[in-house]
Formats: sequence, structure tokens, C-alpha cells
Amino acid sequence: MSKLMKEQKVHDLRSALALLEQIPGELVSTDVSVNPTAELSGVYRYVGAGGTCMRPTKKNGPAMMFNTVEGFPDFRVVIGLNGSRKRVGHLLNYPPERLGFLLKDSVEKAIAPVVVDNEKAVCQEVVHLASDPNFDLRTLLPAPTNTEEDAGPYITMGLCYASDPETGESDITIHRLCVQSKDELSMWLTPGRHIDAFRQKAEAAGKPLPISISIGVDPAIEVAACFEPPTTPLGFDELSIAGAIRGYPIELTKCLTINERAIAHAEVVIEGELLPNVRVREDQNTDTGKAMPEFPGYTGEAKESIPVIKVKAVTHRRNPILRTTIGPGEEHVNMAGIPTEASILDMVERAMPGRLVNVFAHTSGGGKLLAVMQFKKAVVVDEGRQRQAALLAFSAFPELKHVILVDEDVDIFDTDDVLWAMQTRYQGDVSTVFIPGVRCHPLDPSQTPQFSPSILEVGTSCKTIFDCTVPFSLKSHFERSKFKEVDVKKFLPDFE
Ligand code: MN
Repeated sequence: MSKLMKEQKVHDLRSALALLEQIPGELVSTDVSVNPTAELSGVYRYVGAGGTCMRPTKKNGPAMMFNTVEGFPDFRVVIGLNGSRKRVGHLLNYPPERLGFLLKDSVEKAIAPVVVDNEKAVCQEVVHLASDPNFDLRTLLPAPTNTEEDAGPYITMGLCYASDPETGESDITIHRLCVQSKDELSMWLTPGRHIDAFRQKAEAAGKPLPISISIGVDPAIEVAACFEPPTTPLGFDELSIAGAIRGYPIELTKCLTINERAIAHAEVVIEGELLPNVRVREDQNTDTGKAMPEFPGYTGEAKESIPVIKVKAVTHRRNPILRTTIGPGEEHVNMAGIPTEASILDMVERAMPGRLVNVFAHTSGGGKLLAVMQFKKAVVVDEGRQRQAALLAFSAFPELKHVILVDEDVDIFDTDDVLWAMQTRYQGDVSTVFIPGVRCHPLDPSQTPQFSPSILEVGTSCKTIFDCTVPFSLKSHFERSKFKEVDVKKFLPDFE
């Protein structure tokens, strides 16, 4: 990274894009008019989705800016900002393989957000009130419909911010939001999510829950928002983690039509209320039975009955940029996975300091289902501790399904190397640990009684540890071939 790049501080979406523009291969753009219905995501699937997206796709491709969106002359749309680990490293100014440690440390040093005056909040440069008879979300925001069979246009990168009606504590999380009408969004909250706990409290009191949705923000906020309990328990404002990543508090500003705050530098803010005792069928406008492509690589089924946000206003910056993501892709892997890594590092480090060298929330599980853990057995009684570390990982991140354990000489970010460990340091009958009947992530389609007789309830899994570490007593038989240390640059000066 050049000196100039290092000095350039990322503090919002635009400064993030300006940084990426200086790094070859990280951001591409097109002026060709694109249809937000299926076409935009269809293009990006080839350009840079990666992750769990159907092949062919491009692993670690660039982020992409669509400068001309059919029907929406005022907006540009950007997708895939966090779509490679290397790029997230640039955006958070940290080595890619150490990002889990950055996030872990940031939880410990959390810096609470502050509120700034509305005049200082660029997110409110332009205001559209839902009370205006011409107000219509469907013509105002170029929310992409990701595939032709989706339930409708989705806000996929909306940073939802709401507060506990009893304690006033706040939470920020990204949720699946489908545009349902001119002033309504449906909101799917997977069970146990914190904003759902707030919503239930408000509903029990017969009251709406004010909610702001900030779109197009500093990527540090997008990643920090993906922390889950127990690392960030109910009442822990994940914006404070983003504050620690940046070293200063994230600035919020008061919404104009509801009693909540939004991210002051956001490109777009939707202000609204989660209505009590109102539910909607997610695909009521399309009857396709499908929602949108989700992180495991499958299109989620449309929910029969989910909460509704009544929109009161949309505010945005001048020349706004809508931020979106494709669903199954490397972008999800990084946003969900790096907080997962941080949570595992934190819990294992507290239990057995110095043993867990690193962890990778692997691409194939969307950052949630598979963790590859690099474990260093230092003494004879460390034998077996690697499996205890795996058990702790399941506790640190409850949606985790599989753990692959490898030794310290295996590169956890190189799948070939991880699978090499499985081929030469693993025997199926003694190196596999099954933990059946444990609840996992609801979007894994294999979790049905039809799939496995040990699954009694949809949504539970057989969590499995694949122990690909060498038994401590046998270590001397498993030394990798030792090539002579040389200076490659003597032969190839440009070698990196
Ligand atoms: Mn939370």
C-alpha cells in the first residue's frame, strides 16, 4: 500500500470507493444502463460474487459500480464492496489474515456512537416524506430484485437500527427487507435476533417499534453489524465495535419522522415503524414461493407471515449511491465470517491462551457453517484440547455446523492445504466427532428428518468435528518436506 493510500482514511461509502479506485482490480464500473430486476445481480454473479454463488462466478473479483440504472436516473448502485478478504483488509487497513483479531480487539475496546446535529448529517440532504401523495418506494429506490423468481425488490444492505423500548439500549443488524408496496417493507428476522426481541416487547405493549435503515455506509459498520450473541449479547450496540475499528465514535443523527437515530454519513436512510400485530406474506406480490438468494447458495423460501415496516420517510445524500449485495457470495462470507472468527478467537483464547493460532470462517459455509481452526499442541496434555477448542467454537457461534481442526503448519486460508491435512492426518472412524440434534442455522436445507433419521426437528443438525491434527505423540512422523530457505528475489526481482 502506498503512503498516499494509507493516509486516506475511510469514513463513509464514498471514501471507501475512493480508496478502492486507487488499487488496481478492486473496483470496476459501467455506464451501460442496467435493469435492477435480475439483470444487475446477473452481471455481478460473473464479475465478482464468488462464495457460495452458482458457478461460473469469480472468486475475489472486484466491487462494481452501476452508474446508470434503468428507471432511476438519480441513483447509482454499488455491489460487492466486501467481496474479497483482501479488499476488506484494504478497507479496514489491516492484514487480511488478521482481521478476526482486529474485530476481537475491537469488541474489547468498543467506542459508543454519538449523536450529531441534523445540519451536520449528510444523509438528510434530500428528504422524501411518505405523507407526500407521490411518495413510492418502488420508484424512489433502485432496490434490486436479485433473481427473476424473487419475492420482489430487496434492500439487502440495510443497517437496521432500533432500541429496546424498556432499556433504551440499541442494536444494529442487517436484515432481509422486501419492498411490498409504496410505503411498506417486509422484514425477516431469524429467530433470536435482537431487534426481534425489541419488536416483541413493543408489540406486547401494543406499540410500533421505530426503526431506521441506513444504506451505504463505512464498511467497518457493515462488518461490525454482523456480530451475534454471545459475543454481543442483547443490548450491546454493535456500532460501538465499528467505532473501535476506526478509533472514533460513529456519528448518528436524529431521524426526522420517528424517535430513533440513523447513521449520519449514510447514502440513504429509510425511517419507519415495525407495526404491532401486522404480518404479511413475503411473496404476496409474486406468488413465487421464493424470497431471495441466501448465503448457503439457495434461494430462501418466502415466509408466510412476517413483520411489516411502515415507512415514514426516505432521506438521502445528494447524488446518492444505493449499496447492495448479491446474497450468496464472498461478500457475505466476509461480513458474517470475520465476526464469527473474532467470537471463536475470543472464547478459545480465554479458555486456553496461546493454543488457537488462527481461525477462518470458510467461504463454503458462507462464513457461518464451517470454521477451519489452526491449533498448536505445545505439550503432551494439549492432545484432546483441540477438540475442546472446537466445542468452544460451537458455543462462541451457535450457527456453526462443522469444524475442521488443523495443525499450525497448515495454511487455513488455502483450501488445498486444509484438504491435504484431511487426506494425510485424518482417519474417518477415529478423527470424527458427531454431536447430533443441535440447533443450527435455519437456512441450511439439509436439516430435515427426511434427510437424516437423527434429525427430529427441522433446523437441527449433526454438528461435526473433523480432527485433522496429528496426535501429539506421533508428531515426528508428520514433518513436511523441508526445502532449503532461499532468496527468491535474487532470481526473480519482482517476485512477491
Ligand atoms: Mn445484536
